[in-house]
Amino acid sequence: MKVLVINCGSSSLKYQLFDMNNEEVLSKGLVERIGIEGSRINHYKTGMDKIVIERDIPDHTAGIKLVLDALLHPEHGSLKSLNELSAIGHRVVHAGEKFAFSVKLTEEVINALRECVPLAPLHNPANIMGIEAVTKALPDIPQVGVFDTAFHQTMPKHAYIYGIPYEYYEKHGIRRYGFHGTSHFYVANRAAEILGKPVESLKIVTCHLGNGSSITAVKEGKSVDTTMGFTPLPGVLMGTRCGDIDPAIIPFLAKAEGKDVSEIDNILNKKSGIQGISGVSSDMRDIEEAMDKGNERAKLAYEVLAYGIRKQIGTYAAAMGGIDALVFTAGIGENDFGLRAHICAGLEFMGISVDPGKNDNMRGKEKIISQDGAKVAVMVVPTNEELVIARDTKRLYS
Ligand code: ADP
Repeated sequence: MKVLVINCGSSSLKYQLFDMNNEEVLSKGLVERIGIEGSRINHYKTGMDKIVIERDIPDHTAGIKLVLDALLHPEHGSLKSLNELSAIGHRVVHAGEKFAFSVKLTEEVINALRECVPLAPLHNPANIMGIEAVTKALPDIPQVGVFDTAFHQTMPKHAYIYGIPYEYYEKHGIRRYGFHGTSHFYVANRAAEILGKPVESLKIVTCHLGNGSSITAVKEGKSVDTTMGFTPLPGVLMGTRCGDIDPAIIPFLAKAEGKDVSEIDNILNKKSGIQGISGVSSDMRDIEEAMDKGNERAKLAYEVLAYGIRKQIGTYAAAMGGIDALVFTAGIGENDFGLRAHICAGLEFMGISVDPGKNDNMRGKEKIISQDGAKVAVMVVPTNEELVIARDTKRLYS
């Protein structure tokens, strides 16, 4: 059974083709600059070099057509005919409170996702465009939606209600939703498998640290709290996003700087975080290079990030009444062994202690990095959201 996974952004489209008999990735790639000059597709067939095809790609329909052509390519493709495709799985960012699980995409479901557009105005329209483009190209192939918000639908009400008038929750759906759910779900379950224990017996804190970052408390296999909220802006410090701030800063800044709300929103999303504090870059590698050269503000951004994550681990241990495993994933979590050690330093009192001999740079590898016999298993688990999407797609169509 072959399943194609699609993650559609506003001007990009990532894809992976799986053989679900053995969960092997046959091909994958990225369509870039859709609707912008200089558009191209980077396509990789497993075991072969990347090919780049530069082509005018005016919209997502043209992007999907190019993906299908690449998958059918006589040398670099992995399909002889599109009939080999059994189903297509889509990453969709926001399903509001409508879907706590992955679902088959029907017209009714797509309409429900349209209703969530005000909650994710940057992401859901692009995800829906991807679904519509596939429907046009392959009308007879079933499609499944897998939602970033779904895993967090198990949060108890006291974890997702904000301290504002309740009518705004009822009227506008203002509550904590949480994001990166597919990643938190995958790494929590994979961590339990590596430890050889049922996930239902564990209290796990999962740290997804990339350009966007979020931390989740996973108790007995369920998300019980997460740092992102109504939008992906709050929580720990991110590349360019501010994370948690005092909301009163917004009207203060508007007045002090003479800016309107959308300008402030842009500053908090695109000019804040690691970039905003350091004035150097949003990329941790640049920050560490600048720190090595003595840049004080880069060092400050690093400390604000590490302190915020460390504090959050303690918060979630308190929320769950303990912690058995601490999991790091995504670009920073998987690669930045220095930051992992720094975050955990000082948490020995709660049974978290990293073994420097095990905590090295092992890109793409699963590893337990805690001291032998430590109460809490500290782990690195590379995330694999595409595999979760492919598995859910297979499950719903087998
Ligand atoms: P996204 O959230 O866009 O999916 P990733 O999970 O790929 O992002 O994470 C990207 C971030 O990972 C980069 O901004 C960079 O700071 C960080 N990163 C990648 N490799 C390293 C490394 N070797 N050391 C430190 N940080 C790294």
